[in-house]
Amino acid sequence: MMHARPAELDALRDAVCRCLAAAWPEGALTPRPDLAERLPRLWASMAASGQTVIGHPESGFGIQAAVIAAMEHGVAGSPAAIIPSTIVNLACHTAAPDIVEAVQAGTLLPAIAYAAFDGDHAAGTARLAAGHLCGNLNFVEDVPVASHLVIFVDQGLAVIARSAAGLVATETPGLVRPAFHRLDLQDCPARLIPLPRDRLDDLARIARLLYAARALGAARRAFSLAVENAKTRRQFGKLLAQFQAMQHKLANCEIALQGSEAMLPHAAMLCDAGDDDWPLFAEAAIAFASSQLRQTSVETQHALGAMGYAEAHEAPAHFRRVHGDLCRMGGAHRAQAALFDAVRSRGALPGFWLGDGAEAYRARVKAWLAQNWDDAAQAEERGKPEAVRGLDPDFVRRLAQAGLLSASWPAEHGGENLGFLEQLALNEELEAAKAPYSLAVCISWLLAPLVISHGRPELQAEILPRARRGEIVAALGYSEPEAGSDLSNLKTRAVRDGDDYVITGQKLWGTLTEKATHILLAARTDPEAQPRRDGISLFVVPADLPGITIQPHMAFYGHSFCTQFYDDVRIPGWCLLGEENGGWPLLGSALASERVFMGGKVRKLAGIFGRILDHLGEQNDGRPGGGTAERIGALAAELLVARLFALRSIVALEDGRMPIVEGAISKVFSGELAERLSETAIDILGTGGLLGSEAADAPLGGLIEHELRTALMMVIGGGAAEIQRSIIAQQGLDLPR
Ligand SMILES: Cc1cc2nc3c(=O)[nH]c(=O)nc-3n(C[C@H](O)[C@H](O)[C@H](O)COP(=O)(O)OP(=O)(O)OC[C@H]3O[C@@H](n4cnc5c(N)ncnc54)[C@H](O)[C@@H]3O)c2cc1C
Repeated sequence: MMHARPAELDALRDAVCRCLAAAWPEGALTPRPDLAERLPRLWASMAASGQTVIGHPESGFGIQAAVIAAMEHGVAGSPAAIIPSTIVNLACHTAAPDIVEAVQAGTLLPAIAYAAFDGDHAAGTARLAAGHLCGNLNFVEDVPVASHLVIFVDQGLAVIARSAAGLVATETPGLVRPAFHRLDLQDCPARLIPLPRDRLDDLARIARLLYAARALGAARRAFSLAVENAKTRRQFGKLLAQFQAMQHKLANCEIALQGSEAMLPHAAMLCDAGDDDWPLFAEAAIAFASSQLRQTSVETQHALGAMGYAEAHEAPAHFRRVHGDLCRMGGAHRAQAALFDAVRSRGALPGFWLGDGAEAYRARVKAWLAQNWDDAAQAEERGKPEAVRGLDPDFVRRLAQAGLLSASWPAEHGGENLGFLEQLALNEELEAAKAPYSLAVCISWLLAPLVISHGRPELQAEILPRARRGEIVAALGYSEPEAGSDLSNLKTRAVRDGDDYVITGQKLWGTLTEKATHILLAARTDPEAQPRRDGISLFVVPADLPGITIQPHMAFYGHSFCTQFYDDVRIPGWCLLGEENGGWPLLGSALASERVFMGGKVRKLAGIFGRILDHLGEQNDGRPGGGTAERIGALAAELLVARLFALRSIVALEDGRMPIVEGAISKVFSGELAERLSETAIDILGTGGLLGSEAADAPLGGLIEHELRTALMMVIGGGAAEIQRSIIAQQGLDLPR
């Protein structure tokens, strides 16, 4: 186990960047003809900055450090053998300390060939017998500048001098630069570093993780050039960055980059910690990065236009690197298939450790569910019609009275001061247990926190004690006929009249409003305000007041959403949240929380994924063919990314930041993933996937067709995907409106 602390990793990143800036100053544009001269200088500088010890147990720098270094070498377009040196440090520290010493001193420059461990069908093989190596190997990097070749063989690593008799190296030009080489080995004298097969497998997997990290650095750098270009280049009288097509293209790339930036270090951290699940997470990180970053580099080239198509521009060098690093060693398909196997043998997707406090709270929730949500109750729930499934007021009351819905509230309001991570643990367990808690969502995630932070004492007295008893059901009154995505255009009026407000207007699509005791209402208090959003206030309105009419409609996913009419509805002034005309920022934070919550729904998707996996297990003894295993592996990787995205949003809330961009990324990614998951399941199940829960013998209990309908809602509701992409572009990438 190698545990560098975050500060040490930050210091290493700084040292790598400083070294590259000094010894490789032009980055990817550094001229390569004199590489043989430049590289030793770069290597010496790397040794001086501590990079050549990465991977050695005594250095304290393990795979997390290697991922950081590989990413920075990717950003800089550096050809230094940072990946081979890490592998040598990991593999040879006990059996060949002299080799390790020479690498660290910069007198031995290694190139690596993975041979039968490569994973590419054309990578070739090498055979070691009686201290001599024979074989033919393809796709070997760093050969012209290497002093030695380190070759994977069945018994371990075989090391030969670049100048060894019987070795012929031939350049194989192509997309990758410097070019790959082919090695023909005829009885080359070799030194064996013996290693067991599973260690060799691990080393090859670590190498794949590091190539993906280096590709990520290259993709990120090229992407930043595209963003800069879009912010400065004008067409049709506007900056390129002002075109929505460009904003959404760049937002997609940003999601792919951030997903890779979350997954690769996470897998590395698990590897350093000796976690049993690290190979699974490594395959997931590679599977995700391999497909997403190649697409990102293609999109980046599009975004740069002809500017970035010149060989003299930096972007093509990064394009070459991204493809060179991600297509090799079996690429995305190998990782997807390996991930499928790993998840299937594990039986389910792994979860994420949320920390001691949240995990203790999870245990408390589980214990409560074991007592209060038994098999008989679950069977009864499954037999209910779709329109009432998930909506059990009695269950919500018991949940609330156990203190589980108010645990995150401050103690003075009867809570336990627990945080957002505890709320996530609660939601995950409720979703995993398919508990009927939907009536609690709006009050516990949105309304109660707003009332606590911005409610007047009278409102707090009205809402909080009853919410703690599970007697409040909240609904949202935001959308209107002419205010869906453009919420700031809302027309419903709230007019001050003495101590009261009088409300007039119409709201649409309020989820389950017919069951609500209270509505979180957005209304216009200043019709003249410019911008329009500065004239909006937020109120908590009792749903049974005279003048309110609720008309339920059946939404496509099987629960109601309602039209709400407000005809001169009089509410006391203390129903106002925060300041008059100050509703927009509150609305923004409530919407971000809603997006975080919807992003957190990914735990439910993991459950559905588990059911699909079980079904495949029942149908196939071995791995399913026709690309199914790879599709499922790709989905598994995306599900893990979606959970990391949701987790990041919650951690931001925990740190006191409103995760506007993180929430948008989480929401758009998990919503569209829900659609992909359902569509894939239907492809696997065939027509049977369209059968519902009432149909006898419906595959997976009719789950999938319902999930497909629900997935559409996840993409549209709470702010449609296009709006989220615009938020990512404008607030995350700072692109102009
Ligand atoms: C099941 C369900 C439950 C809901 N529950 C509630 C609720 O409880 N309370 C509530 O207030 N609302 C609720 N909504 C409404 C929801 O918030 C809106 O549907 C959402 O904000 C999108 O608005 P819209 O439907 O008017 O779509 P529109 O704004 O008409 O958008 C239609 C399409 O055009 C795209 N579009 C719109 N503007 C742009 C733009 N500038 N650039 C590019 N594309 C654009 C959108 O992305 C979308 O694809 C619910 C919706 C659903 C489906």
